[in-house]
Amino acid sequence: MIIGLPQEVKNNEYRVGLTPGNVRGLCQQGHAVLVQRGSGEQIGLTDESYRLAGASLVNSATEVFSKAQMIVKVKEPQPQECAMLREDQILFTYLHLAPDPKQTQALLASGATCIAYETVTSLNGALPLLAPMSEVAGRMSIQAAATHLEKTQGGQGILMAGVPGVAPAKVVILGAGVVGRNALQMSVGMGADVCIFDRDIERLRQIDLHYGNRVRTLYADPLLVEAHVFEADVVIGAVLLPGAAAPKLVTREMVRKMKSGAVVVDVAIDQGGCFETSKPTTHAEPTYLVDGVLHYCVANMPGAVARTSTFALTNATFPYVEALANRGGVMALIHDHHLRNGLSVHRGVLTSAPVAQAQRLDF
Ligand code: NAD
Repeated sequence: MIIGLPQEVKNNEYRVGLTPGNVRGLCQQGHAVLVQRGSGEQIGLTDESYRLAGASLVNSATEVFSKAQMIVKVKEPQPQECAMLREDQILFTYLHLAPDPKQTQALLASGATCIAYETVTSLNGALPLLAPMSEVAGRMSIQAAATHLEKTQGGQGILMAGVPGVAPAKVVILGAGVVGRNALQMSVGMGADVCIFDRDIERLRQIDLHYGNRVRTLYADPLLVEAHVFEADVVIGAVLLPGAAAPKLVTREMVRKMKSGAVVVDVAIDQGGCFETSKPTTHAEPTYLVDGVLHYCVANMPGAVARTSTFALTNATFPYVEALANRGGVMALIHDHHLRNGLSVHRGVLTSAPVAQAQRLDF
């Protein structure tokens, strides 16, 4: 199979979908890999390292898209990339289609087979290709919150850890999945006063066993969420209904009653966000204010630590890239129903029920 690696075009996105090591592995299995020049240069993955691994370097994304049978990317295709996709081509990348009708229509119009990393499942029902980026984003969310609590960044002027004699920041984490647990680990490590909400009691039970009374685990009852959000210095949004738009746990009215200078990090923004006041931001301009509450809603947080994220992501995606390449594409979906759960659009047909539901489309 001819596999194509275009350079990412989203704002401040330096991750790449395949490392030189992945290219070596694919070439050894008889595949050809086209790499757009410069794709990994910004994170120390040089054109020369791809060439030595066996890739053919090409000058433009147009060349990659026109020749490759499968495109491997990181972020959802931008309009100019959707326009280059074609029938019988496989696109394997994050899509986050539920809150994005424009992209959905563009992918349907392309006729391509589009497989979303974020809905591929594993044996225990987990999301193995979302997990590594959720680990990164969860850990980063607390770094971002700590920075934005500083006065010069628009915050209240609070040190996350406090000091002897002065209380630490109150951190509320909504969602005890991969993002939530990684945010928890960092915030506990920094010495914050932390509570974490979920509707899944088993997840809360595991956290309780691990952290004991260092952390409060709370069932996500709306009144309890409200009470804790009002008191919080930091709220991390980390809930997910796989493939669907994020549930809005924090309303506009609740934000109005939050502390002035509190920081909201809505990691779930890629699925529409779990605060009614959230809208996607970029690394170039990560924050905005609503009623005195600083909102950080960067939709591609791991892009800021692109080198770590590239290796974390490709460690997880590569076995699926191999399976798709070795089975000649769509046959891999027939053999592996977990990979098939990633299929979102196939030859002009929407194949994801949650996306159809979110956008009120026929399924
Ligand atoms: P996950 O499935 O591991 O965890 C989600 C948790 O939310 C689950 O424990 C679930 O029980 C809980 N939940 C669902 N509905 C709830 C509700 N109404 N009340 C309370 N809890 C509820 O998901 P994850 O991997 O932690 O991802 C969380 C979100 O972060 C996703 O939207 C994901 O796409 C996003 N994400 C964003 C970035 C970014 O750069 N912004 C990066 C990685 C992941």
